Amino acid sequence: GSKENTEPKLPEKKVIVNVPPTSKEIPNKVPYLLIGGGTASFAAFRAIKSHDPKAKVMVITREHQMPYMRPPLSKEIWRNVGSDLKFKQWNGAERSLFFEPDDFYIDPTKLLESPNGGVSIVRGYTVKAIDVSGKKAILSDGTEIEYDECLLATGSEPENLPIFTSASPAVQNKVSVFKTIDDFQKVKKILDESNSVAIIGGGFLGSELACALAKYRDVKKLTVHQIFHEKGNMGKILPEYLSQWSTERVKEEGVNVIPNTQVKSVELESSKVKLKLLDNSSLLVDHVIVAVGSRPDVKLAEESGLEVDNLHGGYLVNAELEARRHLFVAGDAACFFDVKLGRRRVEHHDHAVVSGRLAGENMVGKKKPFVHQSMFWSDLGPRVGYEAIGLVDATLPTVGVFAKHPEIESSTKSDENTETSSTESLPNTDNASFTEATVVQPKTASEIDNYQKGVVFYLKDEKVVGIVLWNVFNRINVARSIIAEAKKYDDLNEVAKLFEIHA
Ligand code: FAD
Ligand code: NAD
Ligand code: NAD
Repeated sequence: GSKENTEPKLPEKKVIVNVPPTSKEIPNKVPYLLIGGGTASFAAFRAIKSHDPKAKVMVITREHQMPYMRPPLSKEIWRNVGSDLKFKQWNGAERSLFFEPDDFYIDPTKLLESPNGGVSIVRGYTVKAIDVSGKKAILSDGTEIEYDECLLATGSEPENLPIFTSASPAVQNKVSVFKTIDDFQKVKKILDESNSVAIIGGGFLGSELACALAKYRDVKKLTVHQIFHEKGNMGKILPEYLSQWSTERVKEEGVNVIPNTQVKSVELESSKVKLKLLDNSSLLVDHVIVAVGSRPDVKLAEESGLEVDNLHGGYLVNAELEARRHLFVAGDAACFFDVKLGRRRVEHHDHAVVSGRLAGENMVGKKKPFVHQSMFWSDLGPRVGYEAIGLVDATLPTVGVFAKHPEIESSTKSDENTETSSTESLPNTDNASFTEATVVQPKTASEIDNYQKGVVFYLKDEKVVGIVLWNVFNRINVARSIIAEAKKYDDLNEVAKLFEIHA
């Protein structure tokens, strides 16, 4: 190599500075103030700018990053990890995690004199309270910022488990939660020097990350264990047979799925983490990632006198997303009134987009209620991709209609707890393997074929309140209009035809 290459390199020291460097430089009065630098805030400033092009919008975020999207962090980003934060989308196009290039934003110290307005991101600062009647946000160092309209988009924080938070510091060093770019960069660095990882949790994050890391293993020789309470992956969302089917697909990705259990004790054993499970078996791993749900960040509530919903968590807002006058909430942190489906809180990307946009529109005075349903999607390896809308909850009765192998045209699968008898259940020879959760059946081609493509209806009071489109894409608008009608149907097979699952 050349001479330069043999020179010892100094370790790169990352100096994190707040922007602007001191809170004195933050404008102390802005027309639009958005608290939180996530997706809901991004959607809100887009909406504000499109209705009020010269608007001056200031975002305050605790993170040191410009606004970015989180979904690729548990999926695409692991497929072509480079030093930049780019990822390849499902259609092959390369894209950045960041919503806008840096030069889209205006330096916060120049926002107020900017003739055409703009959006500024104040980074590294935390808002600790809102003075609602004084229309002021108060930073943790006491700095006050006046606003005309304010959005709370504080999102949610990852949960952890007491068994890990009460463990020794040496164990805690080997346990991570996963939410931010910083978490991704830290975990990636650790896993690049590890042979094994245990992911705790069988929900969205745990399941997606398990699949992504198992493929990453091809490159890095990493064994991925996934441990959770439920009988199968996504057991809180999918009907049991579909959750079981998905679990088989997750295993095919190379994940060692360990369902029906929990971590009973944790200790350090020769520099590895030893996890003891319910059946007294134990696992030795280099690192643990906890993905056991998140809780809405409502830390501002008490000091600001804001109401939190006891059942769903999150700030209580009306259908226009107002907590109080001139104070809106959107995204994960909002417990809102859905005119069609009642009071809800949703922790998904598109909901942050839809609710953030609505809040932005209402901040410029549009007075619109929440009627447009958001959707979400997830994928677990190449055979499982789904989109969903409305209330999708495994405790609701469901009716699933699936495209079948060539000899049978379609199969309908009703849950045991389905209260409707209107849908005929066709005989399904493989049923047994899906009701016996702990039995792993041999993988036959027909079993794999069974649930490749279909639609699942979730019912409440016999009305369709939720829909999962299973490996069916570009039909979410059809599903949205079915949810909007909130009707009882005599034959869901007929409704399923609208989705052209046989196409
Ligand atoms: P957040 O994204 O949580 O952003 C809130 C921001 O506010 C944070 O930066 C926080 O630091 C900051 N903040 C909080 N309090 C304060 C304060 N007091 N002062 C200053 N700043 C504050 N959803 C999907 O639909 N599909 C997916 O595939 C998907 N994948 C995901 C993958 C990962 C790894 C994660 C973590 C989430 C995923 N989600 C997905 C969920 C989705 O990303 C969230 O629902 C969405 O980010 C919520 O946006 P938000 O703006 O409400 O809040
Ligand atoms: P989740 O609620 O989807 O899943 C939580 C999992 O942790 C479940 O399997 C649950 O049983 C388990 N769990 C809960 N308490 C436990 C305990 N005491 N011991 C053991 N296991 C326990 O949440 P998540 O998967 O952690 O995701 C975090 C957030 O990110 C959520 O808001 C989620 O909606 C969001 N997210 C969404 C997507 C998507 O929409 N595709 C993808 C990733 C993340
Ligand atoms: P986008 O600009 O909203 O999303 C950019 C990235 O963010 C995506 O690559 C994804 O990682 C993530 N993301 C955004 N919204 C998400 C959500 N609700 N759930 C999970 N992840 C989310 O949208 P895009 O990337 O241009 O894609 C838009 C459409 O493409 C969606 O309707 C999606 O279902 C569809 N899609 C189709 C296929 C297919 O095989 N035909 C595969 C994946 C996605």
